[in-house]
Amino acid sequence: MAVTLRQRNKAGVTAAEKQASAVDDKGRTETWGRSFQISFLTRAICASIIAFCPLMVIAFWSACTHYQCSLMALGGRVLDTPPTKTGLWQLIVDLFPHPTKEGFMLFGGWLIYQGVMYAIVPSMIGYGQRTPAGHRLPYKVAIHHVNGLNIWIITHALFLAGSLQFGLFPASIIADNWGALLVATNVYGYILTVFVYIKAHLFPSHADDRKFSGSWLYDFYMGIEMNPRFGKLWDFKLFHNGRPGICAWTLINLSFAAKEFETKGYVSKEMIALNLMHAVYVVDFFYNEDWYLRTIDIAHDHFGFYLSWGDSVWLPWMYTLQSHYLLRNVVHLSPAVYALVWALEIGGYIIFRVANHQKDYVRRMDGKCKIWGRDARFIRAEYLTSDGKKHSSILLTSGLWGFTQHFNYIGDLMMCTAFCMTCGFQHLLPWFYVIYMSILLVHRTLRDDDRCRAKYGVYWDEYQKAVPWRLIPYVY
Ligand code: NDP
Repeated sequence: MAVTLRQRNKAGVTAAEKQASAVDDKGRTETWGRSFQISFLTRAICASIIAFCPLMVIAFWSACTHYQCSLMALGGRVLDTPPTKTGLWQLIVDLFPHPTKEGFMLFGGWLIYQGVMYAIVPSMIGYGQRTPAGHRLPYKVAIHHVNGLNIWIITHALFLAGSLQFGLFPASIIADNWGALLVATNVYGYILTVFVYIKAHLFPSHADDRKFSGSWLYDFYMGIEMNPRFGKLWDFKLFHNGRPGICAWTLINLSFAAKEFETKGYVSKEMIALNLMHAVYVVDFFYNEDWYLRTIDIAHDHFGFYLSWGDSVWLPWMYTLQSHYLLRNVVHLSPAVYALVWALEIGGYIIFRVANHQKDYVRRMDGKCKIWGRDARFIRAEYLTSDGKKHSSILLTSGLWGFTQHFNYIGDLMMCTAFCMTCGFQHLLPWFYVIYMSILLVHRTLRDDDRCRAKYGVYWDEYQKAVPWRLIPYVY
């Protein structure tokens, strides 16, 4: 049947026809991972996210900077503003972050530094998942902890030595320039989105892995190119998510902890816990960077506003809200709550790591391995790529993957809850992270279901019979 599909595609059909018709007798399509016929609602959601998310980040920054992270107080100020030209202008002047030369220089320097480190720090080559067009791309990653983890260690050592040892800059430098950095990263996030949109049309890296949905807005938001690159190895997605994005995460926290010490004369146990817990998440990411190549971000998402602006702005600002909150507020968790925070963190981390490891391990070993002391159980699933070739993959059904289809998300959400709990229960703002992650991950379970069904056809149905629950057994 695959041969028939190839013949039909070569005969030249429209994208929409291809999507509708290119399904073989096993329910698989050669065009999985592609989107066609984007609904009006989806386009409206994309437009709203592009327009409102930057305002949301600014609102959260503003609430923290001017109103001790109280969204109610910020809302009150907005509602009290007379709807006149002067009133609205004054509101913007008072509440929006201001651009500064230092902000642009700091962020520009950070990007250049990360770009150079990505290029020069020794690395080994890891391989991503096979793309819908059939490529298996090489990446410079931290196999045996070479590139990403080394860069993280060097960066943090330089930051601590430069600030604490040699006094070249205050350790609070990021917190001090937080508003100006927000402006600089937003400018960069939008420029990057426009650049990759144009690049996808004019000089794509892998033309056959581009996704044209028929809606320019959706393409701008979700991205056209799957793996935009400079040359063979300078990968936009891996670089922007991991290097300026995730590497900044722990530096930002450190800087807010330094600012807390400067203003309050101590670093609270809540701030210490938050720094440690975020560091575990970030170091785990870099230690297992090779694994990251086979997750949805790298293996399936295309590079548009969602990832380019998201990695540049959303990730560093919204993922570190708790340290901003702890700087602006005094929180004293009782010993019992503090212990609960750590229990959630440790339990969540174990689930997260074990689940992610089991999935990667069984595929690396081609199923010839034990999970929890027993032979791994799995479904050997076949899929097609758009070059007409047939490949096989493994869908694990034992270990934590026997409980639900995304048990790794449960571990992540437990850790997210622990992060938020360090801020106590007074305000909604620091809890935004777990709310956002819950929406993101639940939505992912649906997105992943659609994509895997198109990719694996009847094998996915078989998998769903073996593991019927998406996230929480007997609930969802
Ligand atoms: P998964 O690790 O669950 O990967 C899903 C993919 O794995 C599927 O698309 C499929 O891809 C493959 N797969 C599905 N079922 C099985 C199975 N039973 N056995 C083997 N492979 C299977 O999802 P994510 O990539 O979203 O998440 C990875 C980790 O990153 C998670 O722990 C998550 O919590 C975390 N995360 C963190 C975020 C953050 O911002 N902090 C954001 C998103 C995720 P295929 O078969 O095509 O290879």
